[in-house]
Amino acid sequence: MAIESSSIAANLERVGNRVARAAECAGRRAEDITIVAVSKTFPAETIRAAHQAGLRHFGENRIQEFEAKQAAQLGFADAIWHFIGHLQSNKAHRAVHLFDCIDSIDSVGLAQKVDAAAAAEGKRLPVLLEARLSGEETKSGVREDELPALAEAIGPLVHLELHGLMTIPPYSEDPEGARPYFRKLRELRDHLRSALGLTLPVLSMGMSHDFEVAIEEGATQIRIGTALFGERAKR
Ligand SMILES: *Cc1c(COP(=O)(O)O)cnc(C)c1O
Repeated sequence: MAIESSSIAANLERVGNRVARAAECAGRRAEDITIVAVSKTFPAETIRAAHQAGLRHFGENRIQEFEAKQAAQLGFADAIWHFIGHLQSNKAHRAVHLFDCIDSIDSVGLAQKVDAAAAAEGKRLPVLLEARLSGEETKSGVREDELPALAEAIGPLVHLELHGLMTIPPYSEDPEGARPYFRKLRELRDHLRSALGLTLPVLSMGMSHDFEVAIEEGATQIRIGTALFGERAKR
């Protein structure tokens, strides 16, 4: 379903106010928090309307779906396209061609494929490592105990730039339920930072219903779908 630019603008203002309040509570600057508009399931015209409302970072989680939207000529010179879903290695080339950053690297094999694809495209690609901090085996992401080795394996891959970490906590009705996962991600980042001597500035965590808690725990990128675009149709 399409949604009007004016209602996206109103939603963005509400989200922006929530970000500002959460940042202030945490003694942080709202400018240090980037909203990634998660446009999955919504059509190209919604992305166009969101761009018009001032959004510049967009997150999509399916290659084929985004290929179809790009075919509708979303040629904004100033948009940054984030891939935020589970990426199969055999789609690495398509992902690297379509996206400006991959926020969901979860294995050494995938990192190597993405690096090779970036080399072929003549790109240097910012990436995040997706950590799975709960025991949910069905979810994507690298286990906490495997994270340091994955981070180290990125080092020699010269077409990748490791910018930080991403996580999706298990769903909890109460946003406070996500806090331990957000805090854990920050601690893991701080640890990797000193172990690897990298700055790792990006913590991508927090979605529509829990981003305030994520901001309190140090999120620098929040991934917002529903609060900007409304409920998604089931697919
Ligand atoms: C869909 C999705 C989101 C957005 O979730 P909302 O609750 O609609 O804000 C954020 N991150 C990822 C990885 C997603 O797949």
